[in-house]
Amino acid sequence: MSSLIIPRTLHFQLYDVLDAEALCQRPRFADYSREAFDAVLESARGIAADLYANHQKTNDEHEPTVEQGRVVLNPGVKPAFDATAEAGLLAASADGDLGGMQLPHVISAAAYALLDSANAGTASYPLLTVGAANLIAECGSAEQKATWLPPMFSGRFTGTMALTEPEAGSSLADIRTSAIRHQPSDVYHISGTKIWISAGEHEIAENIVHLVLARIDGAPPGTKGISLFIVPKFLLNADGSNGQRNGVTLGGLIHKMGWRGTSSTLLNFGEKEPCVGYLVGEPHKGLAYMFHMMNEARISVGRTATGMGHAAHGHAVEYARTRRQGRPPNAKDPLSPPVPIIEHADVRRMLLESLANVDGSLALILECARLVDDQATAPTPEERAQAAALLEVLTPLAKTCPSIWCQAAISNAMQVMGGYGYAREYPVEQLYRDNRLNQIHEGTNGIQALDLLGRKVVQQNGAAFLALMARIRATIASAAQTPLKPLADQLGAALGDWAACTQALGAAMAKDPVRALANANVYLDVAGRVVYAWLWLRMGVTADGRRSTVDDDELRGFYEGKLAAMRYWFAFELPRISPDIALLSRLDSTTLDTDPAWF
Ligand SMILES: Cc1cc2nc3c(=O)[nH]c(=O)nc-3n(C[C@H](O)[C@H](O)[C@H](O)COP(=O)(O)OP(=O)(O)OC[C@H]3O[C@@H](n4cnc5c(N)ncnc54)[C@H](O)[C@@H]3O)c2cc1C
Repeated sequence: MSSLIIPRTLHFQLYDVLDAEALCQRPRFADYSREAFDAVLESARGIAADLYANHQKTNDEHEPTVEQGRVVLNPGVKPAFDATAEAGLLAASADGDLGGMQLPHVISAAAYALLDSANAGTASYPLLTVGAANLIAECGSAEQKATWLPPMFSGRFTGTMALTEPEAGSSLADIRTSAIRHQPSDVYHISGTKIWISAGEHEIAENIVHLVLARIDGAPPGTKGISLFIVPKFLLNADGSNGQRNGVTLGGLIHKMGWRGTSSTLLNFGEKEPCVGYLVGEPHKGLAYMFHMMNEARISVGRTATGMGHAAHGHAVEYARTRRQGRPPNAKDPLSPPVPIIEHADVRRMLLESLANVDGSLALILECARLVDDQATAPTPEERAQAAALLEVLTPLAKTCPSIWCQAAISNAMQVMGGYGYAREYPVEQLYRDNRLNQIHEGTNGIQALDLLGRKVVQQNGAAFLALMARIRATIASAAQTPLKPLADQLGAALGDWAACTQALGAAMAKDPVRALANANVYLDVAGRVVYAWLWLRMGVTADGRRSTVDDDELRGFYEGKLAAMRYWFAFELPRISPDIALLSRLDSTTLDTDPAWF
């Protein structure tokens, strides 16, 4: 049983709010039309419903096993992966001359969100393959592109990102995996151990292309000495077919709480046999290259959280409409029939909070995907630079906020479903465990907060932050011309407070970075609340304009729902920034003042 993001929700965000159709005016997307976009979305919806949702539960019940040295996955994973490849989705946004569909990212992100909402544990295989292929497309040599991209985009090979080591998780500066140039050939021999590598071993594809961070012998210490290597599971013969097994071997599987369909592996490189790696780009620039994949993956993590949040919300709404229990506080007759629980104000509060969280998250993810398109294809260099700046500052929020607020939505769905929400016979408790991992995927939320406050909002004299301010102010100005003016004013005041707080923290950082960054997590929460308020105001303006023009009651109800969720965000969530801004502005040092010994 699954609950995919409904078509109307996607259409509202894509076409009404983001005007994705306008992208067809740009040369890169000139072959597309709204009908063609819809055909891709419908194809993804069919694959999600038929081939992903069908084994979501058994993915959870039977996690991957090792049998005679081979990793065996749920039998549903391979048909789902193959169908995704056959539909062209692995190369959805890649260049046409690389075999891609050249689809706007905003459309491919929406298509992938459908797979995520059906079964994130299986959707990770395409997610990682696309990310790894895009990184090779961006940073690889012409030969590397010709060798690795066709089989990856067609689903013959899958991809991974292999960064983390037992002693180097958040701090990639400390990685120890080494690379030694193998004279006279142009390859390197890699040795070391990587842990937590998702999709690191399986047999759903002919080969696995690991993108590995390692340190070339004699490299400078820290992040300036890290290089990037392509390390295939099988070396290739001259004709591109699989040759001998490379020396990357499975150390073991890790058994985690969610996303159980995805194999989580410990991989040894060069432990028994030499492990060949091919250098990508220049030596010592590997971390900068890897950021291409990490930034894409961070938005994808937010997208999977959003997909799961939507799935849980869909289940909860359906349940709340049909489950009859209790009577309103003013019901006098004990024999009157119980009402559907959606009639109770507290149940509606939980559903409204969930709707505000999951649709706010979808708006953020699709905004980021649209910015990826704008960064490459907007008509002027200024617009492209502005999109790049906005992406810088929004990416840590896109990774983090959906992971937290969609978790709250899933938690609410469990509560709405009463005892059934906690039972494994019903789908939401699995979503709760699956989504919890998104708080650690692609760097912990704490590390994202440090990135936001310590780098993104202050770099280049706050250029990215100022670009975001300008974008939000434009929405406020247009909302001020509508009946939503009071909310526009409220957001204007919140924006001013956030800007003043950011400026104060920026100044404090120059003097005492330890203290200024101590509450970065609180700062990220404030930033997220303001950004979601902006996105909700923008959705509200659109919904307000549309509702008066429709004579279909159901469609009008859909727009009213958006307006209600917007009002919820402004009444319940946005005001929470005030005490947090006060705490941040006085550089509260409660945590720093707590001696580690006192625990
Ligand atoms: C299910 C799963 C899948 C994963 N998939 C992959 C994958 O495919 N490829 C890959 O390379 N990695 C993968 N990872 C690894 C993941 O990126 C790391 O777990 C993560 O970066 C944290 O590293 P760590 O586990 O070593 O924790 P640590 O770095 O030890 O962190 C522990 C805690 O300390 C905090 N902390 C650490 N340093 C700081 C600091 N400087 N300031 C403030 N707080 C700090 C962290 O926020 C965290 O709360 C995966 C992890 C999981 C659980």
